[in-house]
Amino acid sequence: MAGTMSGKVALVTGAGSGIGRAIALRFAKEGAKVVVADIVVEGGQATVEMIHKAGGEAFFVKVDVSKSAEVAGMVAETVEKYGRLDYAANNAGIDGGMAPTADYPEDSFDRVISINLKGVWLGMKYEIPAMLKQGGGAIVNTSSVAGLIAVPNLIAYTASKHAVVGMTKATALEYAKMGIRVNAVCPGLIRTPMIEEGAKEVIAAYTAMEPIGRLGRPEEIAAAVIWLCSDEASYVTGLPMAVDGAMIAQ
Ligand code: NAD
Repeated sequence: MAGTMSGKVALVTGAGSGIGRAIALRFAKEGAKVVVADIVVEGGQATVEMIHKAGGEAFFVKVDVSKSAEVAGMVAETVEKYGRLDYAANNAGIDGGMAPTADYPEDSFDRVISINLKGVWLGMKYEIPAMLKQGGGAIVNTSSVAGLIAVPNLIAYTASKHAVVGMTKATALEYAKMGIRVNAVCPGLIRTPMIEEGAKEVIAAYTAMEPIGRLGRPEEIAAAVIWLCSDEASYVTGLPMAVDGAMIAQ
């Protein structure tokens, strides 16, 4: 597809559902070739089919972002098949369930940290060398409003998303003179399977937390990610960008 990102290659993790799928579809709409990465095969393949149906180009890679060898393989396959890597959205994440800190299960804590925090670091670790070889690129990590404010009963999620903001800033500083921009998107409450799993009352309570009066749409997060990757954002790096209906403005 012809577009503002024609000839470019984008990699999106967690692209088999929700926000990641919307990011992948939007990259394809802008003309980029898209690597759809997810741990769930059916979801990832469904996203690839949607891109193909719309006339775009994409392939699926099965990856567990918490496993170093798999993340290295995902980037290697990207470069092998498409010859380069211009944009990466390190978006895969889990919420890990809710419980007060003293009751929070240790295995959930480890799982959330290994996917949400280590997974984002591993993504950048292998994406950056590929980008440096071609003179630059842009990375957007998915944090959350829980990366900017505290969310009770989500200790590991809150810690992991704050860490994503910290890693994004540190990495942005390290590579600012080398042509790589690194930003984070911090979504508010977005209507995806992660949120829709909740009971009706929970969704109503979430909606009431949003000053804008509604939940966000995955496409509204994708729009911010695409802008942060685009040349329009050429002077923007190290930014945790809230896209949250004014939730953290309160
Ligand atoms: P989702 O559950 O719809 O999608 C998450 C995707 O990540 C799924 O396809 C899942 O299979 C994949 N995934 C999970 N573990 C993985 C792993 N180890 N390796 C590879 N892929 C894995 O959720 P979503 O709402 O689209 O969330 C996407 C990102 O946005 C997450 O990082 C989440 O924390 C963040 N976020 C979501 C919201 C929201 O309200 N939905 C708000 C703030 C931040």
